[in-house]
Amino acid sequence: MALQLLQHAGYSLPALDAAGPDAWLQALVDGLCRLSSHDPLTGLPNRREFELAVERELDRVARSAERALLLMIDIDRFKRINDSFGHAIGDLALASVANVLRASIRPMDTVARIGGEEFAIILPNCPFDFGLAAAERVRIKVANLRLAIGRDEPLALTISVGGAFSPIEARPDLRQWLERADVQLYRAKAEGRDRSCLEPPMAADDAQLSMFGQSWFHTPAT
Ligand code: GH3
Ligand code: MG
Ligand code: MG
Repeated sequence: MALQLLQHAGYSLPALDAAGPDAWLQALVDGLCRLSSHDPLTGLPNRREFELAVERELDRVARSAERALLLMIDIDRFKRINDSFGHAIGDLALASVANVLRASIRPMDTVARIGGEEFAIILPNCPFDFGLAAAERVRIKVANLRLAIGRDEPLALTISVGGAFSPIEARPDLRQWLERADVQLYRAKAEGRDRSCLEPPMAADDAQLSMFGQSWFHTPAT
């Protein structure tokens, strides 16, 4: 069953004779670990793995008094892409967006596919101004994607991004942190999509707000 699971997901194991039983068994266990923690379509960590990474980050945040940013990302009008061009093109779009996200982050950041057309990024040690720039950089890179889909016009797509920072003093609660970022994602959708909305800094952080004016959400200059 384990072998069937791995084969179905496209993983290949070394030949038992060539590898020897220990290395073969290790490859089997490694494959199963990867299968349970990663999404096969995009190769990104799945929701479960992401939540484990966020929990680890929460421990670090609580110890270090550094700020971390959680970004929630959702592809805009994705259902229309499936409906207009088919599921295979939808899958291509998902894998392409995942590649852009992977290429946009720092080595210390974690990006994951947490739902159908939803992704999340955790950015440790992320000052306020860097966070807004990072969200916008990702959004613009996706908006600039052009996917060849065998038609006259390449496919273009956009994302909405919502973000919330961890509080400095307290260990954030994972659920609350995800919900706060989600509220901002809904705001980005409600305000027209193809934009980044970050939660305004908490009252305790008012002093830092003055450094960056009021530009806490960005609308594209179209
Ligand atoms: P919004 O801008 O409000 O986010 O609109 P939306 O169309 O992106 O949102 P909605 O939730 O209505 O549709 C999400 C779609 O994503 C529906 C579902 O079929 C599609 N989807 C989810 N997972 C996959 C997948 O693995 N592959 C493909 N091709 N489509 C998927
Ligand atoms: Mg969605
Ligand atoms: Mg969507």
